[in-house]
Order: sequence, then structure tokens, then C-alpha cells
Amino acid sequence: MNVLDLIGNTPLVELKKISSELNGVSIRAKAESRNLSGSVKDRAAKAMLLEGIESGKLRPGKTIIDASSGNTGIAYAILGAVLGYPVIIYLPANAGRERKTILACCGAAVVETNPLESSDGAFLSAKAAAEADPDKYFWPNQYNNDANWKAHYNGTGVEIWEQTGGKVTHFITGMGTSGTFTGTSRRLKEYNPRIEAVAVQPASPFHGIEGTKHMASTLKPGFYDETLPDRFVEVNTEAAYAMTRRLIREEGLFVGISSGANVQAALDLGRTLPPGSIVVTVLCDNGFRYLSEEFWWLNND
Ligand code: PMP
Repeated sequence: MNVLDLIGNTPLVELKKISSELNGVSIRAKAESRNLSGSVKDRAAKAMLLEGIESGKLRPGKTIIDASSGNTGIAYAILGAVLGYPVIIYLPANAGRERKTILACCGAAVVETNPLESSDGAFLSAKAAAEADPDKYFWPNQYNNDANWKAHYNGTGVEIWEQTGGKVTHFITGMGTSGTFTGTSRRLKEYNPRIEAVAVQPASPFHGIEGTKHMASTLKPGFYDETLPDRFVEVNTEAAYAMTRRLIREEGLFVGISSGANVQAALDLGRTLPPGSIVVTVLCDNGFRYLSEEFWWLNND
């Protein structure tokens, strides 16, 4: 087996205890930490890099450069090592310590950007560097690269359809670049237009749901399609933390904060749905990426 084949085809896990709070509604989640570098972003990174190689834009001697809240950067770093390209990642300085350490483990160079400008600041800095020397850099530009959402159109969406035997009724997830939401929702709606695509949003512009964007107050990704979500569910950071704790303590799933936000939103949505509904969401990455966070030390009420 090729190491790149360790991306995609992740398990779909039923969240039995959390679903039992609902009236005949089942919540299921894609365990994306099973991917090669440990997050959902492996899918997009692999698609963007392979497309770069195929089109001739990524060729020997070039350096991969992009902005990331961490997970895409780690995916580029591991794939860059496998494919033989150096990697430079622009990352907001307040990104978690674990992600910076993992990037160092992979041998990637990191440029820290103004934390007050969050992912927008990292994006603008990476853009300026890439555009200043296009012969040196390959800039996948994950916020504006169609290969990003198409990785989910060709992968995640197909897998969810097959893993639920075509019975999925709702797909719900948060958005960073919106690649996961866009590609998966588009594919599922092609299979069955009645499947609802629900987008999770942090309840306020300043939030701790790392890796996700508050769309109304930040730069919109180029391929973000405002007409795609059938509805939005808001989650505040404390509720996301509490659900992240529940996921390891009740379901045995050690996952990151955006996964907690997704499951909390799926639970809130599930309370409004009729029996028989099947809600699928995404566990984007692993809890090990957030070990230094304080919220693990708290208990839920
Ligand atoms: N959760 C985490 C932890 C992430 O790092 C990201 C990507 N920034 C997402 C969710 C959202 O993924 P996407 O870019 O496909 O919208």
C-alpha cells in the first residue's frame, strides 16, 4: 500500500450515548483523525498537491507555501516530505502549541502572523510572499482552490452516502476554508436533493473553535457558496469545549474542539428532527492536538 492511500475512507461512527438523548434520531461522525497526518485536511492537501504536480505548477526545486490554522500545514508538511518538497507555513501566532511542535517534527518552516488578524492575517502574508516570488513557490491557496472542495465531493460525500446505505438525511459541519462543507454537501445533494446541508457557525467573531471561521466577520473563501447551506446552527465556545469533553468521557472519542462544536450542533439540530433522521457530522482531528488547553481540566455540570 502507498502511504498516500492512508488518506480517505475513514470510518463512520455512531455516537450512541449522545444520540440516545434524541427521539429516534441517529448522530454519526466521520473519524477524520484516521487520515495520514491526523486530520480532515489531508484530503484537500493531497488533492491540491497532486493537482499541482499534474499541471506542472509544482515541480522539483519549488517550495510549498500556504496559510493554515495548523491542520492543513501539518498535512502539507507530511505530504511534502513524502513527495520531496520543502514546506513553509504561515500560521497565526496564537495557534496551539501542539500544532507548532508537530510542524517542527515534520521539518516544515513556520512563519507566525499577527494573532489579532487570525486566519485572514496568515492568508494575506502567505499571499504576499507567494506572489513576490512565483518561480520559487508553489502556493496551493487552499481558500480559493477548487481541488480543496472537490476532494470532499469525490471522497467524503461518496463515503457518507455509501456508509449510510443512502439513508443520510442531514450533513452538518463547521467551516474553515469551507472545503469539507462545500464538497460533501454538493455530492450528497446530487445523490438526493432532499438531504439538508447545515453549516455550523461560532456564535461570535471572537471564539475558541480553532480551525473554523465566523463567516460574517472574516474574508470569505473564494469557493464559499452562500446559497448551499439550508440552515445554520450557532455554537458557543464553552458548549463546544463541554461536548469535546463528553466525546472522550462518554463515547471514547478523543477529538479536537471543532469536532465538539460539530457534535453539539448536530445534537441541537437533532432535537428539532423527526424520528428516523440520520445526521452525519465530522470529527475533524484528534484531541492530542489540543493537550495544552485548559478546558480538559474542567468537568461538565
Ligand atoms: N476543524 C479543524 C480543526 C480545522 O483545522 C479545519 C480546517 N481549518 C476545519 C475544521 C474546517 O475544514 P475546512 O477547511 O474543510 O472547512
